Amino acid sequence: MVTILDKINDPQARVRHPEKAHRPDTEVMRKPEWIRVKAPTSKGYAETRSIVKDNKLVTVCEEAGCPNIGECWDKKHATFMIMGEICTRACAFCNVATGKPNALDMAEPESVAKAVKQMGLQHVVITSVDRDDLDDGGAEHFEKVIFAIRAASPETTIEILTPDFLKKPGALERVVAAKPDVFNHNLETVPGNYLTVRPGARYFHSIRLLQRVKELDPTMFTKSGIMVGLGEERNEVLQLMDDLRVADVDFLTIGQYLQPTRKHHKVMSFVTPDEFKSYETVAYAKGFLMVSASPLTRSSHHAGDDFARLRAARERKLQVTE
Ligand code: SF4
Repeated sequence: MVTILDKINDPQARVRHPEKAHRPDTEVMRKPEWIRVKAPTSKGYAETRSIVKDNKLVTVCEEAGCPNIGECWDKKHATFMIMGEICTRACAFCNVATGKPNALDMAEPESVAKAVKQMGLQHVVITSVDRDDLDDGGAEHFEKVIFAIRAASPETTIEILTPDFLKKPGALERVVAAKPDVFNHNLETVPGNYLTVRPGARYFHSIRLLQRVKELDPTMFTKSGIMVGLGEERNEVLQLMDDLRVADVDFLTIGQYLQPTRKHHKVMSFVTPDEFKSYETVAYAKGFLMVSASPLTRSSHHAGDDFARLRAARERKLQVTE
């Protein structure tokens, strides 16, 4: 397990989560056998790693300590994290470093586009840290990255996983106008957990953001995800599904929360594969076009294959309603 003394890669080697350093350690639950993953060792993994390093890119795969990194990087799937590796929020579940971010790297859009081309990606997922310090929350930078990828790899479909752009007027509109293929914004957890899990965010702002994407561009696919195992009740998850359907969200992902360090939010339970299956069944019944619910589901896991299935599902639905 990563510890709180873990340092980020800067010359001062600062602690990743200064705001959590004085919290008491939480109890760590032993992972069940259905969560175990193999250590990454494959040739494909090493190739992806070197493309990421050579282009000086940051990935959420590494920063969040994602358990799927061996599998994804072997297949050359990586989720690029733009606008630096330091986040201005301090969510209780997240392993991305927190603090005062560095200035934007103006060469980053080209570097990301170069890596996407080098890796020959059919589908790319771009996410970012929260940049509450920027007037537009980083909307212009998202736009530049989307445009650079379109110019370098016109066939690549682009999925963005954005922050909530809270109190940044015009930011969302700017990002939607750049026309990503999929707009993802994660709710992360049920509303009752926001104060302890996602204190800097507002649940209904996030729901409204997703709804607004569809209002601005009804053809854009929208997606959202949550983690379970954070103390939520089943009924709260079902209510959250209804809220997302009211916002006309197409794709829901549900995965098991895993605790990055003893200073992060405790894992309250390990949800069984059968319970995930049940969530998936209910979510389809509520009208989502696509649902991915399993212990190791992450918003960007299998995103390329899922995008193809999402498109096919919409076409099938349109044929039925014509
Ligand atoms: S699931 Fe997403 S974050 Fe995790 S390794 Fe795969 S692409 Fe990266």
